[in-house]
Amino acid sequence: MAGRNAAGKVSLAKKIPMRSCTGCGAKKEKRELIRVIRTPEGSIVLDATGHANGRGAYLCRDLSCLEQARKKRALERSLGTQIPGEVYDRLEEELRDLQSPSPEKRDPSLGGTDAG
Ligand SMILES: [Zn+2]
Repeated sequence: MAGRNAAGKVSLAKKIPMRSCTGCGAKKEKRELIRVIRTPEGSIVLDATGHANGRGAYLCRDLSCLEQARKKRALERSLGTQIPGEVYDRLEEELRDLQSPSPEKRDPSLGGTDAG
């Protein structure tokens, strides 16, 4: 049951793994998307490395996609679990963090009283 040999056609180009965004549905390279996983403990976290074990879903690195997934409950369906609003809020923060690597820039309009 180890891999089987695909005799015959040889694909020249290396196949790039594509995944669909849970929010907007766009197909993108896996590495362009951010992976959201459900840990064995049942927490929902962003998997920045993309290698963590667990049930995963993919999102663009875009807050609007997270919003869409939230509205459609698509993440919940993909991960097969309930996701409380506070978890989405945390995901949003993490996503925002990933988007803007410079910690100096903060958005004053969006609250966040004490940022560690
Ligand atoms: Zn998207």
